[in-house]
Amino acid sequence: MEISITKAEHLKPLPDESSLSFGTLFTDHMFNMDYNPDYGWYNPRIEPYQPIVMDPATMVLHYGQAIFEGLKAYRSAEDEILLFRPQENMARLNRSARRMCIPEIDEEQVLSALMQLLRIESRWVPSAVGTSLYIRPIIIATDPFLGLGVSNTYRFFIILSPVGAYYKEGFDPVRIWVTEKYVRAVPGGVGEVKTAGNYAASLYASREAKENGYTQVLWLDGVERKYIEEVGAMNIFFVIDGRIVTPRLSGSILPGITRDSVIQLAKSLGAPVEERRISIDEVLEAHASGRLEEVFGSGTAAVISPVGEIRFKNKSMIIADGKVGPWARRFFDALTDIQYGRKPGPDGWVVPVNG
Ligand SMILES: *Cc1c(COP(=O)(O)O)cnc(C)c1O
Repeated sequence: MEISITKAEHLKPLPDESSLSFGTLFTDHMFNMDYNPDYGWYNPRIEPYQPIVMDPATMVLHYGQAIFEGLKAYRSAEDEILLFRPQENMARLNRSARRMCIPEIDEEQVLSALMQLLRIESRWVPSAVGTSLYIRPIIIATDPFLGLGVSNTYRFFIILSPVGAYYKEGFDPVRIWVTEKYVRAVPGGVGEVKTAGNYAASLYASREAKENGYTQVLWLDGVERKYIEEVGAMNIFFVIDGRIVTPRLSGSILPGITRDSVIQLAKSLGAPVEERRISIDEVLEAHASGRLEEVFGSGTAAVISPVGEIRFKNKSMIIADGKVGPWARRFFDALTDIQYGRKPGPDGWVVPVNG
């Protein structure tokens, strides 16, 4: 795949690394590629970061046919730029594509285009502890047409955003709110893919959690409203009686790459891990009998997010005295050591952007 490159005439000044937040600043260049049924994916190009001009009838704006990914580039102490399991993001993007009737991309070619973009933007990968360059690949339906159906044309693009350390004032447990009224996904729906509408659909419950003083929503299954699914945009783990338990992938849970990494690391440490259904009643019961040792979320943004409190109906469970548990700490350290190249990971997990 021959990628044409147009360099920006003026480069933006780099931000102060100590004041980076999430998703507010973007780099100088972006990757773009288009699709139509005659050419397939065509015209791959790296260009100055710029607005996309759209017809007001563009399908994605009306019917939400859009999928995306989220991953990060990390700067190692040796000044290498590293990606963490990026092949998994490419594979998941294609699973999302299939479910949303979007044409699949060539995973290897897109990964290589991302590497080229990162080489051009390497100065944007910050080096302060915990910072990284967030990578957002996305595909949107672009036919200017109001009929409901599958679009014929698409735009794929990748934008990059330098992000600050998730934990600025130390590893801070979050408080989560179990929503009884709302559900995120149902069997047969689109909960297991990263499609735009899932996030719009989650906002109302999130707002309810925030109004009640909680940071995130814990979702129960959409049928019985009994089994735990995930938290906000993170997967969730419970440590009960020394066993690490996470909901099995039911079809309505997003299969997180961090989740899979935690499971693999736990297994390699010889820790007992269970992927199975876990009900909110089991969690309440374990808490009441003093066997609920830890709860933590997993996802690219925070890596590991310890949970200090879970509120269900009018009961509040304080977990591990609201402190960070040893497993959360262990997985956070192990994963970040691998991501920043401080320690080797399993084969193929760390992919350097050479060059
Ligand atoms: C992206 C996402 C996750 C976490 O996936 P990672 O690959 O670990 O970043 C979990 N749940 C939802 C709903 C998500 O969108």
